[in-house]
Amino acid sequence: MSAEMEVTAPIRRERSAPKPWQMGKVVELIDETPETRSLRILVPEPSPYTPGQYYNVRLPIEGKPRPIQRAYSLGSSPFPDPSVIEMGIREISDGLISPILVRQIRVGDEIEVRGPFGSFTWTEELGGPVLLVGAGSGVVPLMAMIRYQVEKGTSHKMHLLFSSKSREFVIYREELERLEAKYDWLEVSHTFTRDSQDPAARFHRRIDKDMLAEVSSLFNPKVAYICGPPEVVEGAEEILLELGLPRESVFTEKYD
Ligand SMILES: Cc1cc2nc3c(=O)[nH]c(=O)nc-3n(C[C@H](O)[C@H](O)[C@H](O)COP(=O)(O)OP(=O)(O)OC[C@H]3O[C@@H](n4cnc5c(N)ncnc54)[C@H](O)[C@@H]3O)c2cc1C
Repeated sequence: MSAEMEVTAPIRRERSAPKPWQMGKVVELIDETPETRSLRILVPEPSPYTPGQYYNVRLPIEGKPRPIQRAYSLGSSPFPDPSVIEMGIREISDGLISPILVRQIRVGDEIEVRGPFGSFTWTEELGGPVLLVGAGSGVVPLMAMIRYQVEKGTSHKMHLLFSSKSREFVIYREELERLEAKYDWLEVSHTFTRDSQDPAARFHRRIDKDMLAEVSSLFNPKVAYICGPPEVVEGAEEILLELGLPRESVFTEKYD
């Protein structure tokens, strides 16, 4: 788990020069699940970004000498409009920043953001079929890839294997249902780890080798993107390599 990170300590080592902090304006809040909220933020000087990238957020915290920053993936498509970014944030109840973003921020508030960062990215040039593996809020950057393909009008096969506690904790549930019904290229397989009955899920356990083998056999992925807690990401990555995907075709983002 991440310790408190102050503004002078970068979350990730970046190759490019540091990007400036900007005051983003919260323009919309969407309650996704009991513990997850999407924040849509208008960025005054937006940079182009690629689906899968993240922004940093920093907030002043009482008793702390400097603002505290965290990284949040973007769930929005950068195309056609990169100026309103969307973050999907799950509340860690004893965390410092996420409870404020999920429970206290209101429409019209201004918060400091900077980005984009990261190399966990997909665009149509990489082609498909694409296996997307997400656990909890790890679905956020994968949703950006799906939404981007919708906006671009391309149709590379994408299969999302999405692990959630149960149906009510499925982030973007209605939108995923709608998109899956509309686009032949999208298929979603849910696995519920705390509901062994719900037929809305294809699987009812944690992501494992049999599950990844079954999903992979359906459409023979060329590339895979895995995002979520470090232990889930590392486990799924190892399995996909064992199943024969080349290392350079497996991309990971760990929410540590
Ligand atoms: C690239 C990237 C993208 C991310 N994208 C998302 C996203 O899209 N959505 C999302 O919800 N999250 C995302 N995260 C995770 C996010 O950055 C935060 O880590 C998360 O929101 C928790 O922050 P917090 O301040 O609420 O909790 P923290 O204050 O960081 O606490 C988190 C946990 O660690 C424990 N902890 C804190 N300090 C210590 C310590 N010193 N020793 C031991 N334990 C400690 C706390 O008790 C708590 O359980 C991403 C992370 C990365 C690296």
